[in-house]
Amino acid sequence: MVEEGLLSALTGALKCEEELLASLQANLKSFRHRGAEADGGVQTYEKEMCLGQIQFCEQRISSLRQAIERGENGLLGTCAQCGEQIEPERLKTLPDAVTCSKCANHAESTGRRVGKRVFNYRI
Ligand SMILES: [Zn+2]
Repeated sequence: MVEEGLLSALTGALKCEEELLASLQANLKSFRHRGAEADGGVQTYEKEMCLGQIQFCEQRISSLRQAIERGENGLLGTCAQCGEQIEPERLKTLPDAVTCSKCANHAESTGRRVGKRVFNYRI
């Protein structure tokens, strides 16, 4: 069954992201420990890079969790917009996609990005 394979892929991806997040957070802590002794400019830059990665990682985690939740409700692989099946090729590259590529393209062209949880209700 496609959905079960997909669900386990999502769970695996979620685990990876959580591990990555933990190591990024540890990394961030080590910046704090090193404090002012290191080169200030480089330190700040690296810290900001790290914070950016953490933010990205957290977004991935919440999107993966959302997809897993949809899977548990039997909605995985179903477009949240039109209710059609999401193309298997799309799910292969983007397992946490919540819309089919048609709706995603449409959303992007109209500025609504459902998958990213950025909604614009003025339709
Ligand atoms: Zn759709």
